[in-house]
Amino acid sequence: DRANAAAAPLTDGALADGTPVPLLANLGNAKGAAEAVALGAEGVGLFRTEFLFLSSAQAPTVEQQREAYTELLAAFPGRKVVVRVLDAGADKPLAFLNDAHEDNPALGLRGIRALRASEDILREQLTALAQAQAATEADLWVMAPMVATVEETEYFTELARDYGVKTAGVMVEVPSSALLADRILAVADFASIGTNDLTQYTLAADRLLGSVAAFQDPWHPAVLRLIREVGDAGRVNGKPVGICGEAAADPLLAVVLVGLGATSLSMAPTALADVRATLLQHTIDDARTIAAAALAATDATTARAAAQRAATREQ
Ligand code: PEP
Ligand code: MG
Repeated sequence: DRANAAAAPLTDGALADGTPVPLLANLGNAKGAAEAVALGAEGVGLFRTEFLFLSSAQAPTVEQQREAYTELLAAFPGRKVVVRVLDAGADKPLAFLNDAHEDNPALGLRGIRALRASEDILREQLTALAQAQAATEADLWVMAPMVATVEETEYFTELARDYGVKTAGVMVEVPSSALLADRILAVADFASIGTNDLTQYTLAADRLLGSVAAFQDPWHPAVLRLIREVGDAGRVNGKPVGICGEAAADPLLAVVLVGLGATSLSMAPTALADVRATLLQHTIDDARTIAAAALAATDATTARAAAQRAATREQ
């Protein structure tokens, strides 16, 4: 019955040869935690903290934040929880952090740039996160959004560690960071690839604009090549490389991402079951072969078709 089904342990994400691929949840508030666990989330790969404060006129207090982060971490004892510091700007402006008058907010003072310009807000967030970490059993990882340089990586990871954060990383969602991933991962403890923004910036197409929506396709081989750079850099540096953009929720693309070197996948919880089932059909060697087929294509449509053909052969 339903109760038993919910209680039945779901298998952890893995390939057919047993290679583990932790499957994690993207969340925007702690209320979604129980459902994510019921759907088999092994932890959280992206907690979008800015979603908590989209309607706030004032910066949240340390206490408000500590409460929210403690509620989240308490739902995942012994599990990895990756919290992203405020990603404010462009599609997600925060009244207390962003200037509403930029002509081109996707290329403006957003993400880590905005936090750096209002460093007190970043310091307060790190304070609250460290308090929540101390009060719970979860394995807290903290990352910065929209990092474009090695210097920003150094800035963020040093500051986070000053506040007691044990595992400090960055999102790779700007092409410059993917191209310098070997240098970035020499500094950061981990990277998490945001395929939504990485696609937007690689194809120079606003992710919110319907007239250019056809460009917003993470199957594009230019995007896949950048992801391969990050996967290779993770292997060379011995650091984890997660994926937390929508691409991870596409089961066939999930196989490709693992073949390119992703070590965990984070997605909307409703996508977990299909991705889990598809990963189980392929070995790591298959995944690399399927990824190579997609990489060799010239556009998104043929990349997907090539991966599909390779996956059918490898099954
Ligand atoms: C991304 O850009 O892929 C990402 C995960 O971050 P967001 O969608 O919140 O910008
Ligand atoms: Mg993003």
